[in-house]
Amino acid sequence: MEKIRFQDGKWVVPDNPIIPYIEGDGVGKEVTASAISVIDAAVEKEFSGKRKILWREILAGEKALKETGERLPGSTLREIKSYRVLFKGPLETPIGSGFRSLNVEIRMLLDLYANIRPVKYVEGLESPLKKPTVDMVIFRENTDDIYTGIEWKYNSKEAALMRSILKRDFNVEIKGDSGIGIKPMSKSKTERITRMAIRYAIANKRRAITIMHKGNIMKYTEGAFREWAYSIARREFNKNILVDETGRMQNSGKKILMNDRIADNMFQQIIAKPELYDIILAPNLNGDYVSDAAGALIGDIGILGSANIGDMGGAFEPVHGIAAKYAGKNLANPIGTIKAGSMMLEFMGWGRAAAVIDSAVKSAIKRKIVTQDIARAWGKKGLGTREFTEALVKIIKKGS
Ligand code: NAP
Repeated sequence: MEKIRFQDGKWVVPDNPIIPYIEGDGVGKEVTASAISVIDAAVEKEFSGKRKILWREILAGEKALKETGERLPGSTLREIKSYRVLFKGPLETPIGSGFRSLNVEIRMLLDLYANIRPVKYVEGLESPLKKPTVDMVIFRENTDDIYTGIEWKYNSKEAALMRSILKRDFNVEIKGDSGIGIKPMSKSKTERITRMAIRYAIANKRRAITIMHKGNIMKYTEGAFREWAYSIARREFNKNILVDETGRMQNSGKKILMNDRIADNMFQQIIAKPELYDIILAPNLNGDYVSDAAGALIGDIGILGSANIGDMGGAFEPVHGIAAKYAGKNLANPIGTIKAGSMMLEFMGWGRAAAVIDSAVKSAIKRKIVTQDIARAWGKKGLGTREFTEALVKIIKKGS
């Protein structure tokens, strides 16, 4: 029973690692339980008892509030800092007021600067596209941009002070009833996620990286993101990357093409010509938007998993939120959380177990063994979360 360690940027994983998990709010309880049983089945199938994860529950969200009076108790923060690898369900963030995002706090705590979201069409899903040639991996920056959460309410004294500083020192007039937000984007944080995306592209033999930005309007934040990303590619990866600032080149074959698209264009591009897009490198907000849009293109956002990765740690979670309307009803699709589990196994170097999960999920969808969110496109009812999980575990045990 040991912790996962990090040495020279590498994961050092014992055969019986302790991994903390957070159930999550809403459907979290059901999808996390489902994913854990599927992960355990795949690890057992592939490693026959030689390797096994020792799960350790830690509290956050509603459950933590009920038991400790806090949504993110100090003990949870200490455990996350100590174990550095976390498996989690979705956590609620209220709109417009209330507490700050717990997800953002967790990502910041471990400096998990890249949110990696693979989006690939699975045969059998009902995509809205005629030809669903979608196979993208979104690299969303996690620590800069608007998710730093620097903003002030329109009628606060801080907003009034900011407005007066802007008037006095910059001669910028802001209407007195405006809330104010600050959007910082830094060279160092852009460079490190660009490096990670390029290294991933090289290791996984991907064809292209497209920077998604709104640099025509936000020149010194999103425009700079584009400049800094190109500059790192030229300086450090010249051997592997072909930089195309004109946006006109097609894939060259040998090198990985790096180009960029303005964010609004990017949305129409992934719908009209999804086959041209491979890795999308995006600042925080663009990355968030484009992930859900890409999820819709493959027919279901409920099946997307994601990894939040830093130089020393990782948190794995579904892309979807708490889907409150399905909470406690045995109606949630657990595949997003299961896929987050298979990404975690990849990062642990237990890729064979990850492959077992991925092929079982593919096989289940092909055989129309799915939950209601997918089945309704075929006019069918679908299985409950628990029944789907049992069926998936059975497929894993049988090995097909
Ligand atoms: P959401 O919870 O993802 O739900 C949006 C819709 O997506 C649902 O109504 C449902 O669509 C479908 N859906 C999502 N997950 C599903 C699943 N597992 N199975 C079946 N259907 C699923 O998005 P939201 O309503 O925008 O966000 C709700 C809360 O979740 C917010 O507090 C938000 O901050 C939080 N959130 C947390 C995370 C995280 O923890 N990382 C991520 C995103 C959002 P239908 O109604 O069409 O069936």
